[in-house]
Amino acid sequence: MEIMLSPEDLAYRHQCKMYARGELAELAERFGEINYVPEALRLSLARAGFFKYLIPEKYGGYGLSAVRVCLAREVLAGTYGPADVTLAMQGLGSYPIVLAGTDAQKQKFLPSVASGERLTTFALTEMGAGSDVSSLETVAKPIHGGYCLSGRKRFISNGYSADMAIIFAKTRTADNPKAISAFVIEKGTKGYEVDRRLELISAHDIVSLKLDRAVLPKENLIGKIGDGFKLAMQTLNFMRMTVGAAAVGMGQAALDEALAYAMRRVQFGSPISRQQAIKFKIAEMATALEAARLLVYRAAIKKDHGAPDVALAASMAKLYATEAAWRVIDQAVQIHGGVGVMKNSKVERLYREVRPLRIYEGTSEIQKLIISRAVFKAAEKPK
Ligand SMILES: Cc1cc2nc3c(=O)[nH]c(=O)nc-3n(C[C@H](O)[C@H](O)[C@H](O)COP(=O)(O)OP(=O)(O)OC[C@H]3O[C@@H](n4cnc5c(N)ncnc54)[C@H](O)[C@@H]3O)c2cc1C
Repeated sequence: MEIMLSPEDLAYRHQCKMYARGELAELAERFGEINYVPEALRLSLARAGFFKYLIPEKYGGYGLSAVRVCLAREVLAGTYGPADVTLAMQGLGSYPIVLAGTDAQKQKFLPSVASGERLTTFALTEMGAGSDVSSLETVAKPIHGGYCLSGRKRFISNGYSADMAIIFAKTRTADNPKAISAFVIEKGTKGYEVDRRLELISAHDIVSLKLDRAVLPKENLIGKIGDGFKLAMQTLNFMRMTVGAAAVGMGQAALDEALAYAMRRVQFGSPISRQQAIKFKIAEMATALEAARLLVYRAAIKKDHGAPDVALAASMAKLYATEAAWRVIDQAVQIHGGVGVMKNSKVERLYREVRPLRIYEGTSEIQKLIISRAVFKAAEKPK
């Protein structure tokens, strides 16, 4: 994998690892499994500059780099899930503005996302609209000077801690009854609130949101009316590969734990690492992770080079890496025997943490639909 990265990227990876081993490991120890983003975590991630690779230089970032975001997510996810989710949400909750925001929106929101002053989120999913995004029912009604938003969103990560959100809502017109548009909303807007905090199998700040006739000025519309679906898909096409990176990081952390445990656990008079059955598991785990890594960085490099087939590469990376990491972590639990299912052992936590990755930002089944569609399309092209 190293040959795919520049010396500067490799130095950045080293820097991420140093941060994770030091400051982040301390924060993980201090806060444990949490359902909010502590200020100390937000400030620490911000100081380390992680958010800046999501934002163009003109607006306070270092310039968008999918490779750097993947390198960071790989390391953060292996160390402390809430840190990884926070980086991911800063990306999901700002990219629509990066893509289609007005200069005024960019000036207002992007520098504060880059500096970590503001946490943001991405609110697409609803009770009746999960995989089928187009069936969402939140409505933005045009009113004098702006829009009035009503509806509910669910499964919104960092929704409790976020200072702002990108909201997707229907803006029906006679000629486009299915039109979806994107809006930026700030915490404190009348009618916009957390409806309910949700509990998952692993630590996560996740909520359902309520919009009860929340009034937004027309300046909060991102892009043009009806651009929302395209903006949501473009954002997911970027961030999906980074979910793959997070999965690789979790899988690697589990493999490292399994290696150390296998070398020290003695049964039948010798460390279990001497058993061929364990060696074969380790070989399969290491190979699966390396293959996943290659797909992830291939997609990230394509994104940074503006390649036309990024969406396909991102779906392949997400599908393969999240499925592989889940299997790797399951094998790591197996290598730990009973210790592997003890509450709060590292592999037990990873086992719970990796599971949602095969669901969010498009389930594995949806990735397969995207991939197969592209494969059939290519096959139908005249040779
Ligand atoms: C931890 C977590 C964090 C999340 N964070 C966010 C967030 O920040 N913002 C946000 O907007 N959303 C978020 N989500 C929502 C997430 O994107 C959705 O859960 C996901 O898109 C799936 O939707 P659903 O849960 O409604 O499942 P459904 O769409 O109801 O799917 C149920 C099952 O049916 C399968 N299925 C559905 N349609 C098809 C089909 N056409 N072909 C084959 N199989 C199909 C699915 O693959 C799945 O296995 C989060 C979810 C989780 C679990």
